[in-house]
Amino acid sequence: MKALHANGQIYEASEIRSGSALKSGPWFCPGDGCEVRFKFHRAASYAAGDAERVARQATFVHSDEREHSSECPFNAKAERQRLLNEHASTLIRRGETLLLMYGAGSEPAKPSTPVEPRPAGAVREQYAAVMSTALDIARVVDRIGEPALESHWVRHQGINYTWREFSYGPDAQDLSRLTPSVRGQVTAKTWPRLVRAVVHNGGSLNSSESWVMARMTAVDTLPGNKAVKFWVFARPNTDAGSLLLTFMAEQTYALLGEWWDFMTRTEEASLTIEQTSQVSRLA
Ligand SMILES: [Zn+2]
Repeated sequence: MKALHANGQIYEASEIRSGSALKSGPWFCPGDGCEVRFKFHRAASYAAGDAERVARQATFVHSDEREHSSECPFNAKAERQRLLNEHASTLIRRGETLLLMYGAGSEPAKPSTPVEPRPAGAVREQYAAVMSTALDIARVVDRIGEPALESHWVRHQGINYTWREFSYGPDAQDLSRLTPSVRGQVTAKTWPRLVRAVVHNGGSLNSSESWVMARMTAVDTLPGNKAVKFWVFARPNTDAGSLLLTFMAEQTYALLGEWWDFMTRTEEASLTIEQTSQVSRLA
């Protein structure tokens, strides 16, 4: 998230190092002609539940009573309305919250219900619509920070997920939440996630040629040069497998899927994809 410093320069919150004289600001909304004041919050971690600590990235927060101008791209209310207009088929409004509908049926399947085969075309279309909506929300969350982070949820097969539970990356601090979330998931392997990351090892076949795989990483590293990585798998001789084979180092992708596991040896998270619409090239 960015803010305008009184010195006339716009900074990304992650650029402000501890001890920097810039920290105290004053900071303003970077929207053209907008007078809202911002305050800098450094990166921190806080306890969430018994064992886990959650890292929060450095960010700016709205710190006065002023409202963003109606044309300001940091106006959360105006952005919510725009998202709702542009993604009417995937978004539902619940009070101040937008719910992204993902996964057939909004109620959890009963254990006794037989699993219906899904027509591939419908799945493809649905991934495409959810991907497009999710990326648009992610851009708004990147820009606006906390107010947008709290007002977007995902509903997948009757279960609601916060935006933090659903969306990961591309920076190391955010992506480092991915593997703990996969290890901690209660319902086996079917927790929907959107992950943005950079290709570290391009797509290739494993030695038995039973899987195409690519290794992904964050755009930066954690303190101490520690890299954060995860894997993507697809079956060879499928459209998803062919697409994964074209992944080349340093390209950035968004990946959407619910079939997550982790590698026994490295303990890194892994995603299996079946549809090309689960993949979107970002840069
Ligand atoms: Zn503003």
